[in-house]
Amino acid sequence: MIILVMNAGSSSLKYQLYNMESEAVLAVGRVERIGMDDSILTHEPTGGIEVNRVSEILDHNEAVRKVIDILTHREHGVMTSISEINAVGHRVVHGGESFKQSTLVTQEVKQEIRRLFDLAPLHNPPAMMGITAVELHLPGVPQVVVFDTAFHQSMPKESFLYPIPMVLYRRHKIRRYGFHGTSHDYVSKQAAKVLGRPLEELKLVTCHIGNGASCAAILHGKTLDTSMGLTPLEGLMMGTRSGDLDPAIVPFTINKEELTLNEVNSMLNKHSGLLAISGISSDMREIVQAMDEGDSHAKLAFDMYTYRLRKYIGAYAAAMDGIDAVIFTAGVGENSWPVRKAVCEKLTFLGIEFDEERNLERSKEARYITKDGSRTSVLVVPTNEELLIARDTFEIVKSS
Ligand code: ADP
Repeated sequence: MIILVMNAGSSSLKYQLYNMESEAVLAVGRVERIGMDDSILTHEPTGGIEVNRVSEILDHNEAVRKVIDILTHREHGVMTSISEINAVGHRVVHGGESFKQSTLVTQEVKQEIRRLFDLAPLHNPPAMMGITAVELHLPGVPQVVVFDTAFHQSMPKESFLYPIPMVLYRRHKIRRYGFHGTSHDYVSKQAAKVLGRPLEELKLVTCHIGNGASCAAILHGKTLDTSMGLTPLEGLMMGTRSGDLDPAIVPFTINKEELTLNEVNSMLNKHSGLLAISGISSDMREIVQAMDEGDSHAKLAFDMYTYRLRKYIGAYAAAMDGIDAVIFTAGVGENSWPVRKAVCEKLTFLGIEFDEERNLERSKEARYITKDGSRTSVLVVPTNEELLIARDTFEIVKSS
């Protein structure tokens, strides 16, 4: 079965084409700057040469058409006809309380995703555009939606509710949802394989730290708690997002700085985190480099970031009444050895015996960065959200 995986952002569309017989990736690519007259399509057939094409791409509908065109292109394509695509899997950020697992796209499902636009105004509408574009260009091809929030729907009330008037939950479903669910799901399963134990026995803390960052307490294969909330702003300090703070800062800042609510919202999402404290960058590579060159602001940003992450790991170990392993994944988690070192070295009380040399190794494989015999393990596990989307799509379409 050939499956096209799509991940639509507000001005981008990433894709991967899989042959599910072997789970081989046939091609990867992305369309960026959708809506501008210099949109870029980058396409890489496996084993072939990367192609870059700049043109005006009006909307996601046109972007999907360009993707289909390049996938069947005589020279750069990997298929002779679009009829070879058996199914399409979409990443959808917010599934609210309605979607506890991935599902086949139907009229009702589309209606429900539209109803959830309020909860994710920047993320769900482009995903919906992707779905309708596929209906148009690949009529009759089954589509599956995979939600970032679905895996966390196992959270119990004590971790998903906010201690505010219940009427807000009843009327507007204001509660904690959590995000990056596909990644937390994937890496916890991979970790169980590496640890050689059934997932149903394990107490794991998964740390997905990229531009956005969240960690999760995975108790016996299900999310007990996760750091992101109603939106992806809550929790860890991130590249440009503040993470946890006293909500009274919002009205206080509005009064003192004469800012609007929208301006403060944008400050917390786009001008906070590593960027705000370092004054340099939201990219951990640049923070570490500046810190090594003696920049005190970069050092403070790094220390705050790792301190807050360490606190969450400790809190989640307490929430689960124990811990078997900590897992690092995503851009920072997979690549930044200084971040992992700063976090893990001071977690000895959890039984973590950190291994400096293993931490410095570079590999695309899942691996230990603790010593053999460490009571609690720490693993680096590369995430692969696209593969999990392809697998869910495969299973659902196969059995439908
Ligand atoms: P997204 O959250 O957008 O999916 P990623 O998971 O790809 O992003 O993470 C991107 C971030 O990963 C970058 O902003 C950068 O800070 C970090 N990163 C990538 N490579 C490295 C590296 N070698 N060292 C430190 N940080 C890195």
